Amino acid sequence: MPELPEVQTIVAELDDKIKNKAIKSVEVFKFKSVRPMSKKFVQEVEGRKVLGVKRRAKMIIIELSGKRYLLIHLKMTGQLVFQNKAGKGISGGHPIPLPARIKAIKAYPLHGGNVKDTGLPSKFTRVMLDFSDGSHLYFNDIRRFGWIKFVDEKSYLEETGKYGLEPLSKDFTLKNFTAALKRYPNRKIKQILMDQSLIAGVGNIYADEADFAARVMPTRPAGKLTANEISKLHKAIPRILKLAIKMKGTSADTYITTSGEQGQMLKHLKVYGRKGEKCRGCAGTVHWMRLGGRGTHYCPACQK
Ligand SMILES: [Zn+2]
Repeated sequence: MPELPEVQTIVAELDDKIKNKAIKSVEVFKFKSVRPMSKKFVQEVEGRKVLGVKRRAKMIIIELSGKRYLLIHLKMTGQLVFQNKAGKGISGGHPIPLPARIKAIKAYPLHGGNVKDTGLPSKFTRVMLDFSDGSHLYFNDIRRFGWIKFVDEKSYLEETGKYGLEPLSKDFTLKNFTAALKRYPNRKIKQILMDQSLIAGVGNIYADEADFAARVMPTRPAGKLTANEISKLHKAIPRILKLAIKMKGTSADTYITTSGEQGQMLKHLKVYGRKGEKCRGCAGTVHWMRLGGRGTHYCPACQK
């Protein structure tokens, strides 16, 4: 699933492409992917203008005219593809699982192509937005866990209010971060970092990286961390996320940017995806375990 840096990359690219465009028409191929799950979604969205695109946690927010919003969660296999009116500068999507990814990379040329090349809408297209300038935005989702919600201001505040601290915001102070860690002192630190109601946008990849950077074992109870370890984690999280945004995210099996490019963060990862490889902090090797059902990478020598 794309995490904060990957979603931020998509948001920045989408904002650049669809801001100020008017939505001429909407086609929903699978009502299961939208809320409300009816024609009402179409009626509400059609005719509105896109004011901008932003992010909260791992959610993409398209701000519409009339104080309405589209909230998009890509989940495991959701993908947004923008296609301009000339059919060029086609955007590759967002997480494309293997083996479809191979096909998709061929289908969405890395640096533009023409309309016919996209093959969109495809059988995986759930929603299509047509803009008045002839461009399109496709929401494709193979496994259909992803969704697009149309909401008013009140629901928007409710939905975005469910999430915890944004690690790149001013609210991410040492004091607030410490308070979040102390909420459930017996829970393992990695699970705290990944709990979206406490800290927003950090998932499996960046939780492993942050724990390694702070030299903390992912299994440590959050309440047992020293002030020094908490301070190290607090510094490491935004530093790693900012680098990942600069690199346009991590392209593991499931993510490419909306420009169809690979994110370049992979080579900067210290432990994630490096099971059995040489540790980048000592002479040992990177270990792997399951923690709360998620694959977890760590170095038993570097992390305490
Ligand atoms: Zn090590």
